[in-house]
Amino acid sequence: MSDTKTGETSAKAAPRISFVSLGCPKALVDSERIITRLRAEGYELTKSHAGADAVVVNTCGFLDSAKRESLEAIGAALGENGKVIVTGCMGAQPEEIRAAFPNVLAITGPQAYESVMDAVHLAAPPAHDPYIDLVPPQGVKLTPRHYAYLKISEGCNNTCSFCIIPDLRGKLVSRSAGDVLREAEKLVKAGVKELLVISQDTSAYGVDLKYAESMWNDRSVRARFLDLSRDLGSLGAWVRLHYVYPYPHVDDVIELMAEGLVLPYIDVPFQHASPKVLKAMKRPGNQDKTLERVRRWREICPDLAIRSTFIVGFPGETEDDFQFLLDWLTEAKLDRVGAFKYEAVRGAAANDLGLAVVPDEEKERLYKRFMETQQAISARILKNKVGKRVQVIIDEAGPTVAKGRTKWDAPEIDGSIHVASRRPLRPGDIVSVKVERADAYDLFGVAT
Ligand code: SF4
Repeated sequence: MSDTKTGETSAKAAPRISFVSLGCPKALVDSERIITRLRAEGYELTKSHAGADAVVVNTCGFLDSAKRESLEAIGAALGENGKVIVTGCMGAQPEEIRAAFPNVLAITGPQAYESVMDAVHLAAPPAHDPYIDLVPPQGVKLTPRHYAYLKISEGCNNTCSFCIIPDLRGKLVSRSAGDVLREAEKLVKAGVKELLVISQDTSAYGVDLKYAESMWNDRSVRARFLDLSRDLGSLGAWVRLHYVYPYPHVDDVIELMAEGLVLPYIDVPFQHASPKVLKAMKRPGNQDKTLERVRRWREICPDLAIRSTFIVGFPGETEDDFQFLLDWLTEAKLDRVGAFKYEAVRGAAANDLGLAVVPDEEKERLYKRFMETQQAISARILKNKVGKRVQVIIDEAGPTVAKGRTKWDAPEIDGSIHVASRRPLRPGDIVSVKVERADAYDLFGVAT
């Protein structure tokens, strides 16, 4: 815009976008990509819907409770602003959103970055030409600066009966190894100390590409789970693997953990242990032998932490199935465990299995028993760490006590260690801590 009195050019204020990010780490990565694009095109982000030129809501459509949360977020944004663009998993089923909110400006599915940007351009045209240098080279992170999620593939080739993600996100599409490693390298150069590798099925990485080779730093790298883990481990940051299935080839990656290249931590969504329930769930992996596999992993890497999630109250689950699960859990002694009460997801195959629905009160009872069993296991595991020295990455600074995590704990889903320290600790610092006390979920110690 030209100021005729002074002859100077005054910059037009940048349009402001308010962004709501709901759902899992995979959705968070989508949000980060969209925000990176917005910033690249000169948009500003604002925390308040009211003062924004438009609102983008990245939704989650996995469970009905997540859908409700998404619809509430859309409703709130419409109430406060009126110009609302919806994207994400729930956007793959636009009818429900349109029925509730006919006035939303646009609805796009997950990873539809271009369509989101088109909708933003219409609602709030960019103020000026894109200045690429507005964006730091590593992109814009929604996570704290010292850790970042690294998405290695999209979609899933499995057909778990309770899940509609393959319908929403399509079949497995892996990124080339070179592409993933370049992003990881940029993140580490920008100060990221911990890379959290995510996808729907990390152990299947590269299958769709037939493990194709690509170039990274003048050398050829293969799109294979083992190779990628090793290459990521060479970057000097902590590397944490999420959503790995217990396939035999995972044993080789556990060896990298024993060597210290990758964190001794594996997130395996077992979901259940009873062969009957697993069959009804159509879970991937050789489920009959999971306990054997867990034993083998611990032989290879004695220091390994295994985290998992389970579903209780799946249709057809009997007291015997549940007891089998509790016995399995007691035997497997997993380090970190989360549980969900089963929720029927519209469109999921599990709804058509003709199995007895577990009533809500019963689900609640199963959930409590499950969590009590795990709590006792977790408390014993953590008690064994008292007196030991552990490496800790600091997440939150505090005047006298900082909060961090050991290598056996992922951010947001696992426990913490509270660290007393004479010197100030900053987020991202990696310090040695003597563990003095433990409860069922957290550790307490002193920086040494
Ligand atoms: S592995 Fe199963 S639960 Fe996970 S995304 Fe694929 S189909 Fe869904």
